[in-house]
Amino acid sequence: MASPPKSEPAEDKRERARCVHCRTDIVVPPTYAHGDHIKCGTCATKHKVVRGEVLRLVIADVGPLKEALFENRRVVERIEDELRGARRSFGIGANGIGFGVLYAVYQVALNEQLLSQQLLLASIGVGLASGIVLETVNYLFMAKRQRIRRLSAELDEARSNGRQLEKQLREASRV
Ligand SMILES: [Zn+2]
Repeated sequence: MASPPKSEPAEDKRERARCVHCRTDIVVPPTYAHGDHIKCGTCATKHKVVRGEVLRLVIADVGPLKEALFENRRVVERIEDELRGARRSFGIGANGIGFGVLYAVYQVALNEQLLSQQLLLASIGVGLASGIVLETVNYLFMAKRQRIRRLSAELDEARSNGRQLEKQLREASRV
């Protein structure tokens, strides 16, 4: 078993850091000093080399980052607005159920006094109608709850994207 000692591929010894944008590994030659610019070979994003305890890369051109953050804040505001709207209409719907029930009770009481002969038919009618109304309300209720849940998830994601962008901006402006 005298296989010749394999020389390690030179690539393994080269320093690498992740592209901030597309997360691809970028090889950083030792000639690149702290603060030097290097471009990602995959997505062409320009970075600055950070030689701290570990080799890192930060975005060189913060213009697009700032734009992305600005856009992100608008998205967050829009979703917050939609969420407020959805929650408000949710309340209106819940009040609507209360009024509907009061109205039905009032109608039944009235019918009992004035139209005793038709009471049975009327009760069936009211029962059916309330059933349909309640089913519809329930459906809308569920749809609204789902919408609120979806908007909340979108808001969480947008906020987390925003935090990520702020972090990248902070890091980029330190070099
Ligand atoms: Zn990249």
